[in-house]
Amino acid sequence: MSEVLQQFKEHLKKMDAYSHAMGVLEYDSVTAMPHGGSTHLAETCGFLSGEMYKLMTDSAFKENIAYILSHKDEFDHITFREAEELHEDMERTEKIPMDEYIAYTVETNEASAVWHKAKAENDYASFEPYLDKIVEFNRRFASYWDPSRPKYDVLLDQYEKGLSKAALDVFFDGLRTELVPLIRQISEASQPEDGFAHEPVPIEKQRLLSDYLMQVMTIDREHCSIGETEHPFTTDFTKDDVRITTHYHETEMFSNVFSVIHEGGHALYELHTGDDLKGSPLGTGCSMGIHESQSRFYENIIGRSEAFISYIYPEVKRIAPKVFANVSAHDFYRAANVSRPSLIRTEADELTYPFHIMIRYDIEKELIEGDLKAKDVPALWNKLYKEYLGVDVPDDRSGALQDSHWSGGMIGYFPSYALGSAYGAQILAHMEKEIPVWEHVARGELAPIVAWLTEKIYRYGKLLTPQELIMNACGEPFDPSYYIAYLKEKYSKLYSL
Ligand code: ZN
Repeated sequence: MSEVLQQFKEHLKKMDAYSHAMGVLEYDSVTAMPHGGSTHLAETCGFLSGEMYKLMTDSAFKENIAYILSHKDEFDHITFREAEELHEDMERTEKIPMDEYIAYTVETNEASAVWHKAKAENDYASFEPYLDKIVEFNRRFASYWDPSRPKYDVLLDQYEKGLSKAALDVFFDGLRTELVPLIRQISEASQPEDGFAHEPVPIEKQRLLSDYLMQVMTIDREHCSIGETEHPFTTDFTKDDVRITTHYHETEMFSNVFSVIHEGGHALYELHTGDDLKGSPLGTGCSMGIHESQSRFYENIIGRSEAFISYIYPEVKRIAPKVFANVSAHDFYRAANVSRPSLIRTEADELTYPFHIMIRYDIEKELIEGDLKAKDVPALWNKLYKEYLGVDVPDDRSGALQDSHWSGGMIGYFPSYALGSAYGAQILAHMEKEIPVWEHVARGELAPIVAWLTEKIYRYGKLLTPQELIMNACGEPFDPSYYIAYLKEKYSKLYSL
């Protein structure tokens, strides 16, 4: 092994150890840490991220990266891509002054703790100054990264490289034009009986159901755990240590079911990245949009299909016999797909979901590029919910405080959810040409689907760009018309329109 290669790989190991440690601390902070621990945690994270910054900007490491990038023929493809990826990250990090970088890490750690408390106590005022500061940081970072482009476009790049406000405006306008008439028709149609979905199911029983769903999804529990947090999420340290979380509500059994399937979709992606990428910065999902395409593919396309629901129905009935006493698999399917404008994004149905994203997108654009301040966010939030979804927001807990993203500094992330749904519908159309998807699902055999996705998407980790992965899986570039066609077909049938 050449000296450059050896030094480069050793440095990567060191960086992996730091990011592993920070990741575990972050996971611990939302699962086990008592609230009082947040100040010390923020200090520790501030210190570790300072060390990480030094590793990222180490001059010998930079020379090695420059050498690899200018001697492509001497290195294998993975090493070259690692150098490319790190060079990009490094530029991004180096353009931020070190004191600001540390201050931002401390700020977002504190803000996350404040947000948890603010949401629990319905106290937006306590979170407001943090949001203003986080927006200010993001605006400054965007201008450090690329002063020549609109700030929001630069922020979008962090989650979905190449995505722009202009492209999103077209995407969302298309959805609005095509879906609003369908949503109107449905609001006038008769709704199925879904009262049973709100019957209490003891949390102990719901935990059993989570285990069962993970088993059906072929999730390897040796390498994937499930925890409980306010807001469900997935994190991974390597493909050998993936963690999902869920939230149990006694009278909202579906909420847990579809959270587990959603996070399980993220987990499958991480669990099946290539072995050759273990410990590499490329050994994780390609982009937020592609990641969401996987979670939402399982949650909505598979999880809310009649084939899947019919398959899991006997087990669900066994776990909650009283609730399902007079409910058929078809009733369950209809209830899992009720379309009704609502307040909470994570519990929204598949059809109205993109409208929750449009609201956040509109607000983020105004925060970053307009004059909107944190104090005016709840009013705009409530106004847009009325306008797009026709619902009144009763309090900030179920309004502007509902999501954790902004408190963690993630501005520009939300659009990737809607984009992910659209990628998923296109991926399904191409998967159906190659394997009998629905016959497998009806028999509870998800392994062939996981294998197809591993072959086309999972194993590549970050080796390919989002555009290349869509080409690889579908043989054509991204095309949102599959998503619109999928939603129209599914919901017209559900509501006999
Ligand atoms: Zn997700």
